[in-house]
Amino acid sequence: MKYISTRGNSPALNFEQVLLAGLAPDGGLYVPEVYPSFTKEEISNMANLNYAELAAKIMSKFTQGCLDENELLEITTKVYKNFAHKAVAPLKQLDSNLWVMQLFQGPTLAFKDYALQVVGQLFDTVLKKTNKHITIVGATSGDTGSAAIHGCKGCKNLDIFILHPHNRVSDVQRHQMTTVLDKNVHNIALEGTFDDCQSLVKDLFNNKNFREKHSLSAINSINWARIMAQVVYYFYAALNLGAPHKKVSFAVPTGNFGNVFAGFVAKKMGLPIDQLVIGSNSNDILPRFLNSGIMEQKKVVPSISPSMDIQISSNFERFLFETLDRDSNKINELMKTFKAECKFQVSKEEISKISYEIKGLALNDSETKQTISEIYKNTSEIFDPHSAIGFKAGQHYAKKDIPMIILATAHPSKFPIPVKEATGVYPELPNYLSDLLSKKEEFTVLENNISKVIDFIETEQSK
Ligand SMILES: *Cc1c(COP(=O)(O)O)cnc(C)c1O
Repeated sequence: MKYISTRGNSPALNFEQVLLAGLAPDGGLYVPEVYPSFTKEEISNMANLNYAELAAKIMSKFTQGCLDENELLEITTKVYKNFAHKAVAPLKQLDSNLWVMQLFQGPTLAFKDYALQVVGQLFDTVLKKTNKHITIVGATSGDTGSAAIHGCKGCKNLDIFILHPHNRVSDVQRHQMTTVLDKNVHNIALEGTFDDCQSLVKDLFNNKNFREKHSLSAINSINWARIMAQVVYYFYAALNLGAPHKKVSFAVPTGNFGNVFAGFVAKKMGLPIDQLVIGSNSNDILPRFLNSGIMEQKKVVPSISPSMDIQISSNFERFLFETLDRDSNKINELMKTFKAECKFQVSKEEISKISYEIKGLALNDSETKQTISEIYKNTSEIFDPHSAIGFKAGQHYAKKDIPMIILATAHPSKFPIPVKEATGVYPELPNYLSDLLSKKEEFTVLENNISKVIDFIETEQSK
């Protein structure tokens, strides 16, 4: 299995190389040279697999030549057995044709655990084979950092440094990061904003000496391994509702487009998916694009669904590449225009190809709260704001005879304030995390100063 760049100007790589590389040198994103696929009969035969077995089977198609199904099964068995629900990704019926898949059974209560738990182990396995050590550095506004830390803790061949803005993440978010006391986990509370954290991390990567000396690496949402691991729950849900003999649709609350892109990949692999629907908050660049063919960046506005407060959806480039017939010249042209003008436009014919594959709906904060309240009244289920946006988008496009599966991406206790306002109920952390806020924390407060951060990283590495 080889991977190529969406911009067409980088050498093809194998899975191990793509895992460690992140972004392609030409600025593009890696995608499989040819998508692997399953026949109807092969999909039919997956119906009896448990989540870990299914994950190993599906991912082995993408790791061919590097890792086999048994090596993957060792990893998936180890990580998914710690999830809170035995089904790993349980499905619940909400209405005659509406279902919810609760993707918040992992250690940090958000869907990112499904991929990052696997990616940490993949890094460790691949690095062990080549006897290498890497240093992962990342900035977080809360969610991704904690999922990455939990995915990488205890890995022997890597250290992880996560910068969060000091006093600007919620108590739950901070504890999810700082109570992980493994020696390879290093939390930095930077005196500054999330943007300061992000720009400092960028500067670290731009420092060639430092980058090479410590083999810096990232595990952001453009890493192919994350997409690959997310494909699994689309298969899992569809198989549970009768695939490959019946079709299903999915509704996905969307920010960087990584989650829903995995659904698109599942469809390319042969899973009979009818519709893919995305939900956005007021940062509605994608729904606007789908309606108009104009991609136009505006200022990010803070919302009650902060994990979707994004204006540039990094994974959307992969989707454009596929829907525009893999024309890398076109992608280069669009991305160049977007960078220069914060805006690009595609033709009528192109936007009709794109919006054939995906539908979108945007909700503002008050519509989101209204939806949380409606869901609670009608089903007694408590949704977090992100998942509620997915629900509304799914309900809007649902067809009578095809199940619409809504992906619930976070547990409501991660966003207690808007949930309480909408339902009157304060969503408590699940029992197994009830001691989170009283656990011992470890983190280092640092000035927003690159030399201080470099010193810290070097001192920690030499311990
Ligand atoms: C990250 C995140 C999203 C957005 O997912 P993308 O893959 O970036 O589209 C949605 N909801 C929650 C709770 C998240 O943490």
